[in-house]
Amino acid sequence: MGSYLRTLKILPVDLKTPVSFNLPKEYSFIKTFLKKYFLESEDVTILTNYKHLVSLVQDREPVSPVPGLTLREAKQVWRNAAHPALQNRHKDLSWMVAHEILPVRAVMHSRGMAKNPICPRSGCNSPETVHHLLWECGAARDLWAKTGPLYFPCLPAGGAQFGYQLAILGVGRGLKDLTAQEFTSLWLTLNVIKDAIWATRNLLVGKGVTVTLHACELKVTSMLQGYRTTIFGRGGR
Ligand SMILES: [Zn+2]
Repeated sequence: MGSYLRTLKILPVDLKTPVSFNLPKEYSFIKTFLKKYFLESEDVTILTNYKHLVSLVQDREPVSPVPGLTLREAKQVWRNAAHPALQNRHKDLSWMVAHEILPVRAVMHSRGMAKNPICPRSGCNSPETVHHLLWECGAARDLWAKTGPLYFPCLPAGGAQFGYQLAILGVGRGLKDLTAQEFTSLWLTLNVIKDAIWATRNLLVGKGVTVTLHACELKVTSMLQGYRTTIFGRGGR
């Protein structure tokens, strides 16, 4: 593989030593990888630096689109779903929500795995989509209305910009003035609320238990305890 490495300037040209002109097949993945991400023309200082290489690849990786969002926003959504401060269950939840594949009834019904697509809350006759469960359904609306003003003092007053995309996916104009720390606190809190909505819905469907709004709020507060040091800093309470 000397010849290939020489063209990338990784190996200095030494005319006294023999080189192989064809890449041995065991090493062909290197060429495939460099070609795929257009890295062959990069400088040797980048090619031999792990961190530079990772950041270039991340920038060039194709972004999976999210319905209703620009590619740039979609990129942010996937970054949010993999936010290093999130617990794994919240990463999974965010990922399934962004893909709209959380196993709610409308999703299950469309795949032939549920008898009906309708929301399980009594008196609610809308199809239970991800959007409905987390945002439109009365139970979700009540919890957002109750918890919003308490937990989001850093958001612009009035809450006019506080819509589905911001609350559920963590993207939107209302966020651009936040510091990284403020965004992390907000994003963790939003995930805890989504988790509480999904968990109480599962209690209703699985065990027939109706969780009151107050109990749901307590669940949010107790789950936030798990994130306390991340949100409030060390020693915070
Ligand atoms: Zn509903």
